[in-house]
Amino acid sequence: MIIFGTKGYLYQLAILTLVCGRCGNPAAHTLRKRVTKFTLFFVPLFPISTKYATQCTFCGAEQKVTREQADQLPAQGAGPGTDQPYGRPQQQPHQH
Ligand SMILES: [Zn+2]
Repeated sequence: MIIFGTKGYLYQLAILTLVCGRCGNPAAHTLRKRVTKFTLFFVPLFPISTKYATQCTFCGAEQKVTREQADQLPAQGAGPGTDQPYGRPQQQPHQH
């Protein structure tokens, strides 16, 4: 008899200050990675899927992000310009 299944792991990667797409507050968001691993006889063998999401600590809204976004978000949040709107195009100053 073979016993197999999946097991989920949740990693908190960073806490970022982002403008929430739902409540509109510049609130702290947790950046999380969820890894689902295939298990055989309760031993995790290899990851099946890896998903990234941010969650607003203010209203609890969760937003899925791609791996590329997850890689870039901490760089944005750690820099000096942390008040950049999240998910909106950045406006370039016009030179006259
Ligand atoms: Zn929110």
